[in-house]
Amino acid sequence: MGVLVTGGAGYIGSHTVASLLERGEEVVILDNLYQGHREAVLGGTLVEGDIRDTGVLDDIFTKHSIDAVIHFAANSLVGESMSNPGKYYENNVYGTLSLLEAMNRHGVKKIVFSSTAATYGEPERIPIEESDRTEPTNAYGETKLAMEKMMKWFEHAHDIKYVSLRYFNAAGAHESGKIGEDHNPETHLIPLVLQTALGKRKHISVFGDDYSTADGTCIRDYIHVSDLADAHVLAVAHLRRGGTSGIYNLGNGQGFSVKEVIEAARKVTGREIPVQIEARRAGDPAVLVASSKKAREELGWNPSRDRLEDIIESAWSWHQHHPDGYGGKDNK
Ligand code: UDP
Repeated sequence: MGVLVTGGAGYIGSHTVASLLERGEEVVILDNLYQGHREAVLGGTLVEGDIRDTGVLDDIFTKHSIDAVIHFAANSLVGESMSNPGKYYENNVYGTLSLLEAMNRHGVKKIVFSSTAATYGEPERIPIEESDRTEPTNAYGETKLAMEKMMKWFEHAHDIKYVSLRYFNAAGAHESGKIGEDHNPETHLIPLVLQTALGKRKHISVFGDDYSTADGTCIRDYIHVSDLADAHVLAVAHLRRGGTSGIYNLGNGQGFSVKEVIEAARKVTGREIPVQIEARRAGDPAVLVASSKKAREELGWNPSRDRLEDIIESAWSWHQHHPDGYGGKDNK
């Protein structure tokens, strides 16, 4: 039996496809290449298409023997979701509805879902646990929460089991050097810091140094993308052995401030990395750090690439060898 990976040509999706292939899984990738890259797909069968296209989904489920879906395909920019929430409801929420309906038509009963710490909003306590309040502060997080809730009701009605993985800050690149992070536009801290180290940007903007943290900058929990990828493979295994549906945080449980990330990047790259302090970015909580105890205990997840400098080192290697990412050829 094989796995369908929607959004498998994207950053976390492509690393998960690599992990599945390393384990000998048969993989079909469905990606509209809006943000994904053809070159990021290291194997399996790539279908260029959209999750909102029921014909494409019916075709895949008819032609291939699929028992589980890993669902990444979504828009994920917080800022854009605030100015254009309709796009997020259309692609994320309606897209997930289209996928779940197709799974139901074809009797596919397992889904692993790419969720986010943005479902929590401003945290009640640190580290955040899965049972904590969910009150998203942006439309992106709200749509991901709606998608999680949709899966809950599809389980109730149609017995489709789900695992929802709420990521904290994904970073780093695959050890093969073949795939890494390439967003257009890039908004994430670590790639922007490394582009500054490469001289592609004049400085890194620090969005606020007046938060109530030790150095005044925001604290986040950075997790290696290959550790995230492994969690998806473990989640599929959990569902295949009859495990129950559930929601799991994925993070290292250790927070680093924006200034600490920049300092670590200076050490790794040996470059100066000029900094400019700017205003706070809308919707940024001061501290987001995960408790991943549940994923460790129930999924057997054991993130092994947890040193910040190692994570940055792997991202640095990707950026040095791919200063223009995948070259933008497949960006539409
Ligand atoms: N950040 C920053 N400058 C940048 C990009 C990000 O200071 O150019 C900060 C951002 O405000 C947040 C942290 O770095 O506190 C991580 O941001 P990122 O966008 O990488 O991930 P997020 O936490 O939003 O998922």
